This record gives sequence, structure tokens and C-alpha cells, in this order.
Amino acid sequence: MTDKQDIIIGIDLGTTNSLVAFADAKGPRLIPQVGTEDAILPSVVCFDGAEVVVGKKARDHAIEKPKTTVHSVKRLMGQGLANLRDDLAMLAYDVTQSPDDTGDRDTAVVAIGNRTYSPPEISAMILRELKGWASSHFECDVTKAVITVPAQFNDAQRQATRDAGTIAGLDVVRIINEPTAAALAYGLDRAEHATIAVYDFGGGTFDVSILRLEDGMFEVLSTNGDTHLGGDDLDAALIDLFTREIRDTLGVDITSPTIRQQLRTLAEAIKIRLGDHDEAKIEIAVGADKVFRRTVTREEFETMIAPLVARTINACSRAMAAAKLTPEAIDQVVLVGGSTRVPLVRQRVGEAFQCEPYTALNPEQVVALGAGVQASILAGLQRDLLLLDVTPLALGIETMGGAVSKLIPANTRIPCEVTESFSTYQDGQVNVKINVLQGERELAKDCRSLGVFELSGIPPMPAGIPKLDVTFLIDQNGVLSVSAKEQRSGTVASVQIVPSHGLTRDEVDRLRREAFAHAREDMTAHHLVDVRTTLSFDLNKAERMLNKHGHLVEAAYRESLAATIEELRRLTESCDDPVLLNQRRDAFNQSTMALAERAVTATLQQDEAGTTTEKTNDTVKSAQEKH
Ligand code: ADP
Ligand code: MG
Repeated sequence: MTDKQDIIIGIDLGTTNSLVAFADAKGPRLIPQVGTEDAILPSVVCFDGAEVVVGKKARDHAIEKPKTTVHSVKRLMGQGLANLRDDLAMLAYDVTQSPDDTGDRDTAVVAIGNRTYSPPEISAMILRELKGWASSHFECDVTKAVITVPAQFNDAQRQATRDAGTIAGLDVVRIINEPTAAALAYGLDRAEHATIAVYDFGGGTFDVSILRLEDGMFEVLSTNGDTHLGGDDLDAALIDLFTREIRDTLGVDITSPTIRQQLRTLAEAIKIRLGDHDEAKIEIAVGADKVFRRTVTREEFETMIAPLVARTINACSRAMAAAKLTPEAIDQVVLVGGSTRVPLVRQRVGEAFQCEPYTALNPEQVVALGAGVQASILAGLQRDLLLLDVTPLALGIETMGGAVSKLIPANTRIPCEVTESFSTYQDGQVNVKINVLQGERELAKDCRSLGVFELSGIPPMPAGIPKLDVTFLIDQNGVLSVSAKEQRSGTVASVQIVPSHGLTRDEVDRLRREAFAHAREDMTAHHLVDVRTTLSFDLNKAERMLNKHGHLVEAAYRESLAATIEELRRLTESCDDPVLLNQRRDAFNQSTMALAERAVTATLQQDEAGTTTEKTNDTVKSAQEKH
């Protein structure tokens, strides 16, 4: 354990949200507000009489107390009034020139009632709150921090950020660039050299930076962006559409601030829902007996936001041009900011840089996580990190009955790639849930779940027929991409993970020892799961055949088969002797032969009559759980 005075935290002091993180041998993680799961602090400060409220509560006041609720103060940091024309129009509170300014100095300050606050003073209130979260977490007074700033911040803006830290009682051991932090969160500093693009599409701003890594040091080759383009603009596209239609169809002009705010909230919810649904519905009361209802399709939304996304892509081209680079020269693209969750954004960014962007880490958290990594490097805590040239533990997926199918064994050199085929277990199954597991044990419950995703849109087919190719790909940075593809329809789904996060060398050793100690019982348990799964599969298949062709065989035989199916179903659950289960399965399959023969004959006759049938597969290699 570390000495408490050595603790250094990493802070993402954001325009919309701020977060605090730290890193140890397990990798980086966020520090939530004590006693909660909540690790995101809205960067909002509300002056309520003598009281100062920070975060969510302050944000909730924004509508009723516009003049005393300060948001987006980051835009004011180290700026003079003259530079703030575009910003001031968006801020409901008053910003004036500092009364201390003389002659050539020009600093913007926030006026609340009859006093003024400098932007660093207000940022310090946010930092003090985060310092408090960290101090409660570590049960000591945490005083050292790394704070991130946009790459294009100038000296005055960086100094203002330092000042904010000092006012909050923090020793700011380093100010680092947000894109650098994002790259650090992925451990990209461990490569020898690389060229990395960081695409940061947040709530109100867009930045793209091209970084060069050389001998563990990041250099910013170029930056580009738009300080007034972000997720808010995606919401605004929907709000404009709704406002127009409400006027045209219902004859209502939206003037009420409450309804406006409701529309804003709904627009954001629709945008988020369209990320994984084809359509989303809105319903809002806009006047007495007047309700506006509308369904927005993903396609429609994408058409609306395409010009905004195109602006970010143009900025990427300019950044590459400024760095004298073409897309082929970019090794990695890191996605930052909540707005990069929009599928169209991901797709366009991938096309622009001609590579699959990194999405394994939460885009809203990645900067804070990287600040935590930088802090731990400065605190000398990186020694214990896992080496990444081989996989420390096996990686695989959960299969039917809670067993594990390992695709990549422990100690495999990276980079590596493995594809295996799986199938469905239930007839007509259209979704498959894929649980990505890490560990040496044989049952899913004894392994670590790294992530779950769903492959949907599988065309309905009998169990065992669909061919689902699951690919595990680990790149040179240790980032794992798991994708699943259904062959017939071509449907794909995927997830990206950093498997080394959350794992220490000690833990790896312990897990290996445990696996060794349980090797025998684990094999037996796995074998039992497989036998049960195969038996159930055969029973289901026989039952299907019985339902379809049972009328072709004698009643007594039919009834005895049905009774055996029932009995074996119960036995599958109650018996844990794989040998007995296998014997019963063999005997049962023998007993269904007569039915199978009749069924085949019937099917052939049907075929001659011009009906096509599905070829059925006898073995299921492994089947996924239906849910
Ligand atoms: P900032 O860097 O400006 O503080 P964030 O990175 O926290 O901002 O991003 C906030 C933005 O991300 C908001 O506009 C929010 O609506 C958007 N956002 C969050 N989740 C999603 C999502 N699932 N799909 C689309 N946009 C999202
Ligand atoms: Mg941000």
C-alpha cells in the first residue's frame, strides 16, 4: 500500500462535467462521491444566498436561478472580455471586466449580486469538491493533483487552471493535455513510438489533436476544432425540428422556459436512445389539451446531424494536414467525449482515419482516468503494472449452462487473433448475449466478466443452425476487440475492452494457483455442463420431430418417447453423473431412430413435392444462452 502523503490524484476539470481518478497496480479508476456510485460532478456552481452549491444540485437550479448559477466557467479561464464575445451570448449570468484591471490588463470575472469572482475562484469550488471526494476515499487530506487542460490552452489559461488548484488547496504537480491523458489511459505510452489521433466531441466543444509518441513522451503535432460545436448542437437539431412542427401542426409557439427545458431533456434522451435503437418516440404536453407526439428514426436523425459531424471530420483533415500526415500514418484513434457514442460519429471517424477507433474506455471518463495514470507515474506507482507482451490469463466467452469456452489461452503473445464458430441453442433464437470472460477456471461464475454485448437480428432458424463467428483480437497495446458475426445475415456486434485494467500481478498469480488447485473438479463440472447441454439439445430436437411427424408412428411408441423426454428432462437437472447421463442419451437417441427414419422419408417426399427444408445439424459445438 502507498504512503498516504504520496497520493496524487488526477482531475479532469471539464466544461460540462468534472471527474477525479487515481491509478494503482490495478490500473486507473474513478473516485466517486463518498457513499455513492456517482463519479461525475457537473461543473456548475450555484450561489444561493450565503451558500455555495456545487454539482448536480447546482445544475438543477440553473433554470430558476440563471443569474447566480455559473456553468461553463472553463470557457472564461485566463480570458479577457474581448475574447469572449461568442461565449457571453450563451451565458445567462453576468460576466464583466475585473475591477482590478488596469490599462492593458483585461480579465473577465463573474458578477454575482454585488461581488465578483474570478474564473479560477469558481473553478476552485469545483476542485475543492473533488478534493473532498478523494480525501474521503483515502481517509486523509489529499493535496496533490494532476489537472488536465485542452491541448490548445495558452499559457494564461494554463496558469489560471494552476491558480484554481492553488485556491482549492491543491499542489498542482502537473498540468497535462487532455488528449495526452486519453492516450495514457490506454497505456499507449508503453509503445516505442506511435502517431495517435485523439477525437474529443463533448457537450459544447470539439477538439481533435494529433500526438506523436517518442521515447515515452507525447508531443502535440497539431490541434484543430471548434469551441462551439458539441452534443448540445445535436440536441438543438432535434429541438428545432420539434419546435417547428409544434408550431405548424398545433399552432403553439414554445415560449415557456419550463417546456423549453423539457424539450431539451427529451431531445437529449432521444439522441441517446437512437444510439442503439432504430427509432425513438417523443410525447410532450405543450398546452391545454395539446400533446405533441413524434417518432424519430435513426436515419432521420443522422440526416439532420450529418452536416455537424462533417464539420468535425473537416477539422480532422485540417489537423492531419497541419501535421503533414495522411490517414495511413495514424496508428491509433482514441475517442473522447460523450458525443462519440453516436454511431454515425464513430463510423465517420473510423473512415476519416482509416482505422477502428479505440472505444474500450468510457469516453466521458477517459481523460480523468489518464490524469490518474499520469498522477501514479509521478507518484512512482507504475512499477507493479502487468507486462503486456503476453496475455496473463485466458480469455473466452460464456457458453450454455455457464461453462467457459476459451478462445485465447494464458501466455499467448500479443498481438493475436482467434476466431471460433458457435451456434444458437433455442429454435428461432434471434438474440445472443455474449459474455466476455477472463480467467483460468472452467465455469463462468469463477471467471471475471469483462463485458457483455448482444448480437441481435439473427434470422430465426432452428437451434444449432446459425453460424456465429466470434473473433477475439488483441492489438499491440493490449486492447481487446471481441466481435460476433452471424454468417447468413451478416449482422455484427462488437465490444472493446482493456483486459489488463482491474488486475494486478499478485491477483494473476492467485487466480492461477486457484485454477491449479481446482483443476480436477473444474474439469468434471465443465464436462457435466457439456453433457447436460448436449442431452437437452437432443431432447429438444426429438420433441420437435415428435410434434411435426409424431402422427406417422404408432401411438404407443409416440407416447413412450414423450414420456422418456419428460423423464430425461428431469434427470438432466437432478443427476450429476455425466456417465449415466451419456448412457441415457445414447439409449434415447437409439430409441428415436424409428421416428427419425419416418421423418426423413416424409421430408423427402415433401421435397419432391417442391418444398424446401432446412438441413439440420447434429452437433452443437457450443450454444449461447437465450434471454
Ligand atoms: P464535456 O467534455 O463537454 O464536459 P462530456 O464528454 O461529458 O462533455 O459529454 C457530454 C455530452 O455527451 C452531452 O452532450 C451528452 O448529451 C452527450 N452524451 C452522453 N451520452 C451520450 C450517448 N449515449 N449518446 C450520445 N450523446 C451522449
Ligand atoms: Mg471533456
